[in-house]
Parts: sequence; C-alpha cells; structure tokens
Amino acid sequence: MTEDQMRLLFVIDQYTKKGDEENPIWVKELPILAIIYDGIIKGIFKDYDYAPWSVPMLDGTRQWMNVSREGKDDVEDLLNLRLISILRISTSQYGYVTAYRPTELGKRAIKNIPQKIRDEVRSIILCKTCDTIFQVIIKNHKIFYHCESCGYEQKIGIDDIEDVPYATRPYLPSFDFKWFMSGKKGDD
Ligand SMILES: [Zn+2]
Repeated sequence: MTEDQMRLLFVIDQYTKKGDEENPIWVKELPILAIIYDGIIKGIFKDYDYAPWSVPMLDGTRQWMNVSREGKDDVEDLLNLRLISILRISTSQYGYVTAYRPTELGKRAIKNIPQKIRDEVRSIILCKTCDTIFQVIIKNHKIFYHCESCGYEQKIGIDDIEDVPYATRPYLPSFDFKWFMSGKKGDD
C-alpha cells in the first residue's frame, strides 16, 4: 500500500470499527469523498488532487463536487487488494448508495498502519474538544463534520466549485425537486 492508501483505509476503519460481523457498519462513498477532499486541502493526502465531478444525489439531482480521481482509484485498488468490501444499497427509484468496510485482511493491514498516519487522519476527523470522531452529515446538499457530543459543526468545502467551464455547467432542474416528490424527504 502507498501512504495515501493507508490513510484512506484508516478513514474507512474509523467510520466502521464499531461494527462487527453480526452488525456490520458500512461507510458511504460521499462521506469518504468529502473527507478525502478535506484531507487534500489540509495537506494530509499527499499525492491526491481533485476536480469538479458531477455526483448523483439521492433525490435524483446531480451536483458538482470536488472529487479526487486518485482517491476513487485508490478505493478501487483497496477493493482489488481485498482490503475492503463493497455494498450497493438500493435506495429508491433514483439508484443506489455505495458503501465500504474493511475485510478481515484489511483489519490486519490496519493494525500495521504507522502511528504518524493515524495521527494525520485523526487530526482532521476528530473533534478537538471531545476527542470524538466527527459524523459526516448532509444538509441541503451541503456536507458538514458534526460532533454528536458537543454539537460543533464545520462545513466541508467539497461543493465549493470555482471554475466549472460553461459548457459543462451542471444540469439544474428548474423546479423544487423535493416539492415534486410530494413530501418525501430528500437525502438528508
Ligand atoms: Zn465535540
């Protein structure tokens, strides 16, 4: 594994480690992408970059986000190395959610991740006040770190797109999609 792959595997570990074989916890792709973006701008992921990418949301819309191609490739690599497994959950008529958790092989690999890399990752996902791992939540298509202990919230700028070329501007529906869904909740 490269160091960035170790960081990525450790992120997945931190968000799934409370699960077990009988009650497994899976971490969804969007929170992982958000943490990767935050890790890039804070200098944690050393060899990753990001670019605007049209991401499908659970209400059927698409949204431009700063997605790391290298990060997505490393998720694929961790799958191919059998260090993580993948779950596709059908959510609604709009498609499915992808989620991940470490395999037994992955858990053994996590034990060998150097302390320096653990500390780097935890420096961005840990509430400094409470020593608790942030939840990653979605509110109105915006993504935040949220501390369940103290209520602290911090926006993750994965949707702060500066230069989307005009020709590839996002498709934005001209109506309120949630209204159109007759009272059904969206993805938050
Ligand atoms: Zn807190």
